[in-house]
Amino acid sequence: MSIVKTIKLTKTYNSGVAVNALSDVDFELAKGELVAIIGDSGSGKSTLLHLLAGVDTPTSGEIYIQDKNITKLNKDDLTVFRRRNIGVIYQFFNLIPNITVHKNILLPLLLDNKREDKNYFNEITEILGIRDKLNRYPKQLSGGEQQRVAIARSLITRPAIILADEPTGNLDRKNSEEITALFRLVNKRFLSTIMIITHDEKVAVSCDKVFKMVDGRLYSLEEAGCENH
Ligand code: ADP
Ligand code: MG
Repeated sequence: MSIVKTIKLTKTYNSGVAVNALSDVDFELAKGELVAIIGDSGSGKSTLLHLLAGVDTPTSGEIYIQDKNITKLNKDDLTVFRRRNIGVIYQFFNLIPNITVHKNILLPLLLDNKREDKNYFNEITEILGIRDKLNRYPKQLSGGEQQRVAIARSLITRPAIILADEPTGNLDRKNSEEITALFRLVNKRFLSTIMIITHDEKVAVSCDKVFKMVDGRLYSLEEAGCENH
């Protein structure tokens, strides 16, 4: 079963002039795949992520997440589906500043009135190396540490897919490499399906597959010599 499948996914923005941000994208991800999307600025990468995350709606085409057609869900159902099934990680971490790291990680569960699984919480915070940071506030952490917290938050609901938009774009080389290694670790440990948008060639070559976005069209670079792990 594919975790993500899009059929002729198209997005046109109409603010004055029409921009074809995404054109007829057929994209599929199997369970446990770790893939990178590369491409120039403005090529449509974030648009694809926002559509898969259910935070924006396509102009036409279909999006299946675990066989559920999310383009057919109403707004409320989509909000719940998104919270339970999709983890999103951003370049600027997007943590809530006035609650602790601990609460930030649990937030997706709290919003859904779900109890935490303490063993799982301990396991992910251990893997991500943030056990000693749980009572801090986001601004008391470095960028690399904040991104680890964001990864923990994305994992807490055991989502079908994790979508990351330039997750190392605001980090120095050392932290970028650590975060890249953590994505692989998480992918292996929890069989997480992960899509990473990146400008960083080192991130891209560490993935199972690489796709390139060019003017709203998605091309597979499977043959381009990326490493398989
Ligand atoms: P990338 O993430 O690859 O840099 P985006 O997906 O953000 O590219 O943008 C693709 C195209 O869509 C660009 O031309 C951008 O200007 C346009 N675009 C993105 N978001 C909007 C929006 N909300 N309204 C109008 N145009 C947009
Ligand atoms: Mg972008």
